[in-house]
Amino acid sequence: MSSIIEVAIAVPLHNTFDYLCDYQVNIGARVSVPFGRKKVVGVVLAEKNNSDYSNLRSVEEVLDKDGILSKEILDFLFWSANYYHHPIGEVLLSALPKNLRQGKPAVVKKLTSHERELTPCNFKTTKEQKIAIDAVLKSQDNFHSFLIHGVTGSGKTEVYLRVTESLLKKGRQVLVLVPEIGLTPQMISRFEERVETKVVSIHSQLNETQKTDAYLMAKNGEAGVILGTRSAIFTPIPKLGLVIVDEEHDDSFKQQSGFRYSARDLCFMRAKFANIPLLLGTATPSLGTLKNVLDGKLTRLVLSSRPGEAIMPAVNLIDMRTQSAEALSQPLVARMRHYLDNNKQVMLFINRRGYAPVFFCTECDWRAECDSCDAALIYHRHINRLKCHHCGSEKLPDTSCPACRQPTLKVLGYGTERLEENLESYFPNTPVIRIDRDTTRRKKAFAGHLEQIHSGKPCILVGTQMLAKGHDFSELAFVGVLDVDVGLMSLDFRATENLAQLLIQVSGRAGRSKDSGEVAIQTRYPNHPIFSHIKKSAYSKYAGTLLKEREKAQLPPYAHQALICANSKNKQSAEKFLNEILMILQSIDIDSVEIWGPVPGVIEKKSNYYYYNLYLQSTNRKDLHLLLKTFYLNIDTLKASNSVRWYLDVDPIE
Ligand code: ADP
Ligand code: ZN
Ligand code: ZN
Repeated sequence: MSSIIEVAIAVPLHNTFDYLCDYQVNIGARVSVPFGRKKVVGVVLAEKNNSDYSNLRSVEEVLDKDGILSKEILDFLFWSANYYHHPIGEVLLSALPKNLRQGKPAVVKKLTSHERELTPCNFKTTKEQKIAIDAVLKSQDNFHSFLIHGVTGSGKTEVYLRVTESLLKKGRQVLVLVPEIGLTPQMISRFEERVETKVVSIHSQLNETQKTDAYLMAKNGEAGVILGTRSAIFTPIPKLGLVIVDEEHDDSFKQQSGFRYSARDLCFMRAKFANIPLLLGTATPSLGTLKNVLDGKLTRLVLSSRPGEAIMPAVNLIDMRTQSAEALSQPLVARMRHYLDNNKQVMLFINRRGYAPVFFCTECDWRAECDSCDAALIYHRHINRLKCHHCGSEKLPDTSCPACRQPTLKVLGYGTERLEENLESYFPNTPVIRIDRDTTRRKKAFAGHLEQIHSGKPCILVGTQMLAKGHDFSELAFVGVLDVDVGLMSLDFRATENLAQLLIQVSGRAGRSKDSGEVAIQTRYPNHPIFSHIKKSAYSKYAGTLLKEREKAQLPPYAHQALICANSKNKQSAEKFLNEILMILQSIDIDSVEIWGPVPGVIEKKSNYYYYNLYLQSTNRKDLHLLLKTFYLNIDTLKASNSVRWYLDVDPIE
C-alpha cells in the first residue's frame, strides 16, 4: 500500500514535493527520488493523507532506516530557513555532510580510537570562574543565555572545560563553536587533554570521510564534545547539554554565500529548542550582545583579571606624523629590539597581505587596477605578480608604464610580505615568521608555524588578523599594530566597533605569562577617542558610547536590516531588476520599514559583474520579516531574468 510523503529537495524553490512511497519510512530519513530527469536525494518531512497534486511519482529508494535528522534538528532547521527566508530544501540538505547529501550510507568508516593521556588540572578556579561555572550548571536543564566577558587570558576556556566536564558526567554532549579553522586544533587539544570523551571536530579542512564520521559520531551520541566552525551549528546532537560560542564577536560566524546565516545568532534558537544553556565568551562583546545584556536577555558573567601573576599589557601610541618611516617607526624598532634582546617574542600586526597595495607610475600617476573589478592590484613579490584580492586574477607586472611608456613604476605602501623583508634587514639574526593566507594555504603550514612559535625562542611574528585571534603564545611580550588608520576613517558604521575589538584582541596576545607585556599602536590620529579607551583596556566603556551613538542614529542593534543584492554583467539590468523588487515591496502595506536604493555596491564591479543593493530597515523586526515573507509570496510577478542573479541577506554585516 502506498502512502504519500512530503520531501525536501535541494532546489532554489521555497516549496516541498510530494511523492508516493511503497516503503515504511521515518520522518527525517533520506530518500532517493526522481526529480525532472534526474534522481536526487531528499529528506522526508511528513507523511500525508492526500496531496494537492495529481500524478505523483514514486520514491525509488529509502536510504535511512531511521531518521537522519531528528525532530529537534528539523524544527531548528525549519526555524532557520524561515528566519532567513531561504528555501527549506537547500537549508536541510546543506546541513548534511556532502557524502550524506549524495546518498552515501550513513555509517562511520574510520573508527579512530587513539589512546590518550589526560592531563589533570593543577590549579583551583578563581572566585569569578567559580561563580560563572556555578551559574551555567545551575541552569543546565533550562534555556538561559550567558556571556562570559573576560579579557584574553582571564580563564574563559577553563570555564568551558569545567562546565563541560560536569555535563559529560551526566551523559550530556557539548557543542563548541569557534570562529576560525586555525583555532580548532588548539581548542581541540585543550579539550582532549582534559575531558574523558571522544572529541570530534567539524570544519571545512577535513576530508569528506572525516566530516561524515564526525557528524555521525555526534548524531549517535558517541562524541561528547563537538567542536567546529559555524556550520557545526546544524549538527544533530541528541543529548546536547550546552552550546558554547567562543569569540562570539567574530564576524566569521556569519556565512556570506548561499544560505546566509549567523551561527552566533542561531545559537540562541538551537539552545532554546534543546532547552539548555548557551554560553557566549569573549573579551570584546559585540554591540548586539551587549544590548542583549542591557535588555536582560543575557546574563553577563565577568572575569575581571588574569589569574596568577599575568597582568594586562601597557598600551602606547606612536604618532606617525612625527616619524619619517612609512611602516617601521624608530620607536617601534627600538621597543622590538629591547624585547628580542631579552629573549622574548614580538609580533607585528598589519591587516594587509602581499608586498605592496599600490603599484603606480611616479611620472603620470597611473595605477595598476584589475580589469574585471573596481579594485587596485596588489603586488606579491615572491611570485612577482600583481594580484586582485577580489577575483583572484593575476598577471606579470609591467616593466614600463602602460600610460606614458616611462620606466618609472614603483610600489607604495606595505603588506605583510614587504614588512617581512624590511624586518629581515633590521634584525638579520632573528627568525621572521609570516602568518597570512599566502603562507598558510597548505593544511599543515599553519600548524608548523604555531609549533615554531610555541618553542618559545625569540622570533618576530608578522601577521594579518589571522594572528589576532585566540592564540596563547606564552613568550610573546610585545605587539606592534601598524595600519589602524584605515579603520578610523571608514564609512562603515561598524568599523569602529570592529577596530576596538581587534585592538583589544591583538593587545591580548601580549604578556600572557608572568611578564607584563607591551603594545604599541602607530597612528596619525592619536587623539581619536578610541585610543584613550584602548589604553585603559576600557572596552566596555567605549562600547557603551558606541551603543548610545547607534541608538541615536537608529542603527543595529537598535534597528534590523536586510539587504537585497542583485548582480549582472549588464549594469542597467541589475539596477532595473532591483527597481522591480522595490515596486513589489512598496506595494505591500507595511509602513515601519524604510527602504533605500538601489545603490551601487561598495565595490560596484567584481569579476565583471555589477553589484547593486537595496537596503531595508525597521526598528520592528516582526514588520521587516512580515514584509519579506509577503514579498516572497508575490515574487512570481517578478519578470524572471536570466542575466541577473540576486540574493537576500538578513541581518547583513557588510
Ligand atoms: P582565555 O580563554 O580567557 O583566553 P584561558 O582559559 O586560556 O583564558 O586561561 C589562560 C591561562 O591561564 C591558561 O594557561 C590557563 O591554563 C590558565 N588558568 C586558567 N584559569 C586559571 C586559574 N584559576 N589558576 C591558574 N591558572 C589558570
Ligand atoms: Zn606613467
Ligand atoms: Zn579582480
